[in-house]
Amino acid sequence: MGKALIIGCGGVASVAIHKCCQNSEVFEEIMIASRTKSKCDALKEKLSGGKTIIRTAQVNADNVSELVALMKDFKPDICLNLALPYQDLKIMDACLECGVDYVDTANYEPEDTAKFEYSWQWAYRERFEKAGITALLGSGFDPGVTGVFCAYAQKHYFDEINYIDILDCNAGDHGYPFATNFNPEINIREVSAKGSYIENGKWVETEPMEIKRVYNFPEIGDKDMYLLHHEELESLALNIRGIKRIRFFMTFGQSYLTHLKCLENVGMTSIEPINYNGMEIVPLQFLKAVLPDPASLGPRTKGKTNIGCIMTGVKDGKPVHYYVYNVCDHQECYKEVGSQAISYTTGVPAMIGTMMVMTGKWKKPGVFNIEEFDPDPFMDALNKWGLPWKESFDPELVP
Ligand code: NDP
Repeated sequence: MGKALIIGCGGVASVAIHKCCQNSEVFEEIMIASRTKSKCDALKEKLSGGKTIIRTAQVNADNVSELVALMKDFKPDICLNLALPYQDLKIMDACLECGVDYVDTANYEPEDTAKFEYSWQWAYRERFEKAGITALLGSGFDPGVTGVFCAYAQKHYFDEINYIDILDCNAGDHGYPFATNFNPEINIREVSAKGSYIENGKWVETEPMEIKRVYNFPEIGDKDMYLLHHEELESLALNIRGIKRIRFFMTFGQSYLTHLKCLENVGMTSIEPINYNGMEIVPLQFLKAVLPDPASLGPRTKGKTNIGCIMTGVKDGKPVHYYVYNVCDHQECYKEVGSQAISYTTGVPAMIGTMMVMTGKWKKPGVFNIEEFDPDPFMDALNKWGLPWKESFDPELVP
């Protein structure tokens, strides 16, 4: 079918690349390009022997001309951005210049302010339309599968969806007192920010971790979860009919929260640069350097994740309650691709979203959030590629 350029070679990219190689009919050839080429070469080595042709390259994705040179040389059909959110706009610029479709899993964030919103990427809509290329934003799990779940519910079960709660539960235990399951810098910026949700068309802001609920997750049991700001709230509130309120909750264990509070209290989570021995360092980046690498958690993590959406609304004048979720087992993921479930649940949908655009099922000029496309082929692909989902029409609701 075609050629994909994959930027980044961290935890999520490793899973996505394994999955592309399992899907060699679509991914005939891939180029893994990242800041540290040795990681790309090591992964290529591990995956050699399959049908997908793998190339590797060094690239600094903060530099548009380097990206353009790479694209002109490799001539990909699509670019899957699995670097960090800071690089999104540079990679979109390069895609525009080379006429290459674009997919990512996290919205652009400026490095010096932890601010999560789509405005910067939505500003590319007209340019992508004119260039006749597709940008698919947020094709991970959340954002990603959560948006597909909402679009699927809207298409099949509701005339309007009034309330959505997105619940992200990680009941995995890696045995460390404190570690993050994906890039520590991005993770801590997200969870230490103020919480927020949308009610009656307006953002309501909360203090970090101010709103706590306990939920009895299918296949897991009772867990404490906390309301967070999350990027898909912004697009879903616009793209799903009838929304009155949309919230996002994530589970955290007490040890994680106690460590985080302590690190915050002493200034270690700050993104303001400080001077240390004549050198400028960002405390959070230094903290990342001393924390366990999320990629190393795979062999140690046991337990399951459960991520899904609970929706309440109306069909043919009657009330409807609907819960759709995926349960994923850390150890099963490790057995299959050598990664824990957080990277797995993000890397699989990244491959699927890329496949949707490459196969033409989701190809249209412009910049789109994932819920703007037909959810059915993506839902089928989730079952096929390792993230089967379950549904319930009588779920416990979140107060
Ligand atoms: P990692 O830190 O493990 O990997 C990031 C990779 O990007 C590394 O290989 C890194 O290179 C590379 N990179 C960073 N900066 C540059 C640059 N300037 N040029 C080239 N390469 C660069 O992160 P994760 O794999 O955990 O996360 C990847 C993305 O997935 C993030 O954007 C994250 O927000 C998103 N994500 C989305 C989720 C979702 O459900 N939607 C859930 C989890 C993550 P090096 O090896 O040199 O450090």
